Amino acid sequence: MVRLGDRITGWLSKAIDRKYTLHALETGRITDKIYVFKTDTANFYVFRSGENFICFDTGYRPFLSREELKSLNIDPERVTHVFLTHADIDHVWGLRLFKRAAVYLSEDEEPLIRGIRPLKSAIRSPRLRRPYLLLRDNDVVTVGPTSVRAIATPGHTPGSMAYLVDGTYLFLGDTCKLKDGQAYAGKHYTMDYETQKESIRKLAGLKNVDYVFTAHSGYTQDFNAAFDYWKEAGKTGGAPGLF
Ligand SMILES: [Zn+2]
Repeated sequence: MVRLGDRITGWLSKAIDRKYTLHALETGRITDKIYVFKTDTANFYVFRSGENFICFDTGYRPFLSREELKSLNIDPERVTHVFLTHADIDHVWGLRLFKRAAVYLSEDEEPLIRGIRPLKSAIRSPRLRRPYLLLRDNDVVTVGPTSVRAIATPGHTPGSMAYLVDGTYLFLGDTCKLKDGQAYAGKHYTMDYETQKESIRKLAGLKNVDYVFTAHSGYTQDFNAAFDYWKEAGKTGGAPGLF
C-alpha cells in the first residue's frame, strides 16, 4: 500500500523530471559487477567487489530503494560500504536501509548533514544520525581487492565528491550531467555554478576512465567524448551550461 505522502512525492518528482529533463536509467545490471537502481528521478549504483557490495549513493526514498534492490536480489544487509556523492535528499534518503554499511562522505559536506549549513534550495539535507567517516580530496579507501579514490568536486554542493573505483569507473553524482554523450554543468539546485565548472575541468584531466556514471542522466563509456570540451575550455575559460 503506497501512502499518500509517497504518492505526492512521486508526482512531484515526475514533474521535476519533465521540467529539468532528467533521465535516470531503469534499474538493471550494467556490467558483471555494476548495478544501477532507479528511484524516481535519481539513480544510485552498486559495485560488487568479491563478497562486498559497495553503494554509491542510496536512492531517493527508502521503500523504493528497497523494492529496486529486491528486484535484482540484492539484500541491503549485504552492503558493506556506502559512499555518498553529496547530501541532497535524492542521494541520501535511502541510507537507512543499509544498516551494516560503513558510510563515507566529504568532510566539506558534513555541515549539511549536521543541519548547520542549509542548502540554498528549499529542501534541506536530511540529518545523518549514525556514525560516518569523512574523506578529503585524494583519500583512498580499500575494500577487499577494490580501491575507491575520493575526488573533491565542489560546486553542486560544497562537499560534492566523485569516486574513482579501480582507476576505471567514475561515479560522480550531480557534478555534471550528460547530454548526447557530453558532460555539462547544471545550474538548477547547484550552489556554486562557477566552482562546479572548475570541478568538471578537474575531472576532464583524469586518464584511463572507462565508465562515467551520473545520477540523473545515465552513463557513458566514452570519457573523451564526454570531457573533451572541458579540456579545451580550460584553455579559454569558457564552458557550456545547458540550464
Ligand atoms: Zn541529485
